Amino acid sequence: MGNIISFDGTVSIDDDSLSMANGLTDVFIDYLLISGSRLAESVSEKRIIVFLAEKQQTIVGMGNVGFDITEMPWQANSFEADKTFLLETINNARLLSLQQSVWNILGYEPDQKLIEYALSRFYALIKRMTINDIDENNLKDWCSATEKDDPINCGFPKCLKHGVLLSFCGCKLCNDGIVSV
Ligand SMILES: [Zn+2]
Repeated sequence: MGNIISFDGTVSIDDDSLSMANGLTDVFIDYLLISGSRLAESVSEKRIIVFLAEKQQTIVGMGNVGFDITEMPWQANSFEADKTFLLETINNARLLSLQQSVWNILGYEPDQKLIEYALSRFYALIKRMTINDIDENNLKDWCSATEKDDPINCGFPKCLKHGVLLSFCGCKLCNDGIVSV
């Protein structure tokens, strides 16, 4: 079992989808979450990181957090800036995965080959996204599925302990039992 991130939901054996074991998926989300929470400034940037922060297997189930790039909360009027932001978030996550200070926060050292594989495939998928691929119904559906007290409706709070953006699941790092800051 594992998780697949595909461009638009169509998956074939030799396409550019990112297929990961459950363990690697967690590592991948941890680094994007720490990186993106530090870099996100606008509402649309924070939405993208909260979308990723929702991918918590301990809450929604192992092997249950795959998604499509086109299903992310993109909006046309900030698309180029949001895409640039996410590519920078991925590049910054690469740097963070080499830093002992971040290993100390997470309590583990990632397998460099595996995290590089995941981040580079994700980078290529995001690169492929264009304004013409946006279906703004996805953003509407995602927002309308939230409760009133969802973090995306309450000013995008961060975990006081870990500094990462919260999702309806709470803080991923708290939920995973990560104790140090
Ligand atoms: Zn936390």
